[in-house]
Amino acid sequence: MCGIVGYIGKFNALEAVIEGLKKLEYRGYDSAGVAYKKENDIKICKEKGRVIDLEKCIMDIDSSLAIGHTRWATHGEPNQRNAHPHSSMTGRFVIVHNGIVENYQKLKFEYLNDYSFSSETDTEIIADLIEYFSNTLSVEESIRKTMSLIEGSYACLIIDKKHPNHIYCMKDKSPLLVGKGKDGISFSSDITGLIDYAEEYMPLEDKTFGIIDAEDVYLQDMIGLPIENRFQKMAIQKEEIDKQTFDHFMLKEIYEQPMMIRNLIHHYFSGEEVRISPKLIHHIRQSDKINFVACGSSMYASYFAKYYFEKLCGIPCEVFCASELVYSTPLISKRPFFIFFSQSGETADLLAVMKKVKKQKHPILTITNTIESSMVRLSDYHLNIYAGKEIAVASTKAYTAMLVTSTILARAVSKTKTNLKNNLKAVSLAMEKVLENKEVCRGIAQSIINQEDLFYIGRGIDYWTALEASLKLKEIAYIHTEAFSSGELKHGPIALITKNTPVIAIITQEGTNRITRSNLAETESRGAKTYVIASKSLSTPSDDVIIPNVAHYLSPLVSVLVVQLIAYYAAVFKQNDVDKPKNLAKSVTVE
Ligand code: GLU
Repeated sequence: MCGIVGYIGKFNALEAVIEGLKKLEYRGYDSAGVAYKKENDIKICKEKGRVIDLEKCIMDIDSSLAIGHTRWATHGEPNQRNAHPHSSMTGRFVIVHNGIVENYQKLKFEYLNDYSFSSETDTEIIADLIEYFSNTLSVEESIRKTMSLIEGSYACLIIDKKHPNHIYCMKDKSPLLVGKGKDGISFSSDITGLIDYAEEYMPLEDKTFGIIDAEDVYLQDMIGLPIENRFQKMAIQKEEIDKQTFDHFMLKEIYEQPMMIRNLIHHYFSGEEVRISPKLIHHIRQSDKINFVACGSSMYASYFAKYYFEKLCGIPCEVFCASELVYSTPLISKRPFFIFFSQSGETADLLAVMKKVKKQKHPILTITNTIESSMVRLSDYHLNIYAGKEIAVASTKAYTAMLVTSTILARAVSKTKTNLKNNLKAVSLAMEKVLENKEVCRGIAQSIINQEDLFYIGRGIDYWTALEASLKLKEIAYIHTEAFSSGELKHGPIALITKNTPVIAIITQEGTNRITRSNLAETESRGAKTYVIASKSLSTPSDDVIIPNVAHYLSPLVSVLVVQLIAYYAAVFKQNDVDKPKNLAKSVTVE
């Protein structure tokens, strides 16, 4: 969610920070700003809107030190006044912040009664607290004292006008990485922001404080004890964040899925055998229940994981929505195993649950696209979904990669042998066929764009695809879409069907084909405009999209491409910002 960047060194820091902010745009934001060194002063520039709007208001062209921010407003409207950087009351300290200061009212009341504020944000008090403590403490001590008081989450870069050759940083719960290149030190909320300026990077641990100059990074814990720097080689290529010839990242990412499946086969199979740590497999086999924890598309992906593990391994499973689990205490079995799904590995709701689970000493596996993430660092095990960088906010390839990785894992845990490798190869070919026929999806998209409501229906595993389908349309096409298990329609939702309400049925399972079609006919009798997406062997000539047959349990990997394309084209027809839909952020780093 939103982003922070910073640079200090021999390159032009202003350029490095603007470039970095652009690379982080995909994370979602509503305003942007920079602070940079000009002679011996610090200048601030901020704007509501896009980084490109910000660029227009910056009058200088270079600098040796700069910090930047894209904001996803949590406290206070998205406007120029609330955009970061924020300054302390006298202007001495300038900061950018990602996260939430949950106790900001209390801190204001306790320490800052004499202060006046120029924004409605929770952030501004961080700068003020540092200033307040600096009356009696050193800058380092003031920042560490401020860290000790904040409840919530923060990744901050701080400039002190009295020492304008340093950047200070502090981090707890929100992500922050430091990069080191030949010519300087850079900062970013994720690794993409470091491309071009860093050869090595280091994710900061929670409750870390840092003092950085153009040469080096000095990290400390909360009481001032040094923390060792652990830089690692940059693990991302520039091409991964390039749209190439596609109009949008989302379309590029949809197209990458067949290749991604082949990559996953390559990473996880050696001959016919799955290559996954025997220790992890043994640990899962010992458990009496697997608890999946996720949000959004990852949660829908974990329904499939539950299905695969129950069917193949006979282990009972439950799927938990992370934001609910944080505030509930479900009954936990004697030997539970926890599997967390997150594209970014930084999802705040998941991190909050993970910390609770860790305290109870239950084993944790994270399945993610970001192995340098906070969740991986907290887990006992991790599996990479090898989707490559996903830039579009609406997940496509990370979702399918999670499905594939969980089938592979379930196959490794299960003692029954299936022909999974060949079945997955067939899926990648089937996906290519769907992409060849994308015009059909485009046609459906065009026919639904003026509708206010739309329903996806399916049963069993097709219902889970319907959930993901409906999320995609909401996210990027802004069409109110619901997914129903088709059997549930008559228990209430059918009352919503009016003339021409689009109802799209997903049918890939033999056992539920006939009954789903009957349920669809019931909506048609009440005026619905119906569409069918069906596997070839179950299709009728009047079906709208016919997808190639693959192993029945893998068919959701193929049908989901159809619904991704429908959502994509609907968003394009509506001229929406496909890759950066309104109100959404890519990695949701606030609870
Ligand atoms: N809570 C802060 C604000 O609303 C920071 C939000 C962010 O992480 O961008 O300004």
